[in-house]
Amino acid sequence: MKFQDLRLSEPLLRAIGEKGYTDPTPIQQQAIPPVLEGRDLQGCAQTGTGKTAAFTLPMLQLLAAEPAPKGRRPIRALVLTPTRELAIQIDECCRDYARYTPIRHCVIFGGVNQRPQVDALQKGVDLLVATPGRLLDLIGQGYVTLDTIRFFVLDEADRMLDMGFIHDIRRILPLLPERRQTLFFSATMPESIAALAAKILRNPVMVTV
Ligand code: AMP
Repeated sequence: MKFQDLRLSEPLLRAIGEKGYTDPTPIQQQAIPPVLEGRDLQGCAQTGTGKTAAFTLPMLQLLAAEPAPKGRRPIRALVLTPTRELAIQIDECCRDYARYTPIRHCVIFGGVNQRPQVDALQKGVDLLVATPGRLLDLIGQGYVTLDTIRFFVLDEADRMLDMGFIHDIRRILPLLPERRQTLFFSATMPESIAALAAKILRNPVMVTV
């Protein structure tokens, strides 16, 4: 299978080509079509499988296909990930893949001065990549609202729970609109993770690699 077979848009195919990718990985083959159709997704996949592109590419395509909102851009997509390193990596993928689309993105994480992150947010972004603590901080200060989110990605759910982020996640979930598309990824699916997935996903497609 080739990327061309996944019905991705020309601007995304061009960016993928420039990255040197030719064939989609198994998680990309299985996840991209249902996500493009608007389905929720529960993916059991580790880092290294190409899962970042599996959720980023279809989400960018759907965001770019929606009419651009007037005025300052509302945040339409949120990717929540446990660590600063993962957040930076995901944001770099967004930069590479979104190069030929009008989608604007930024990344926020703790342990650094919040000022540059707040400045980036205030210019308006479509897609926000965040770690839970800094996200809640900036929500508390009124710099971020989640009521316009259409796409929500929970990345590395098992690591989130291991790192003690369950309380943060419980605080974030009720701030998201009910009507949204949700993509859930975890390297392992023990009972506690499956229960969390069941709570936040609606009739998901299950993908395991
Ligand atoms: P991830 O699992 O998302 O962290 O991706 C692991 C690595 O695989 C990253 O360095 C990606 O740039 C790379 N990658 C993702 N998709 C593909 C693909 N279809 N072909 C080749 N490399 C890829």
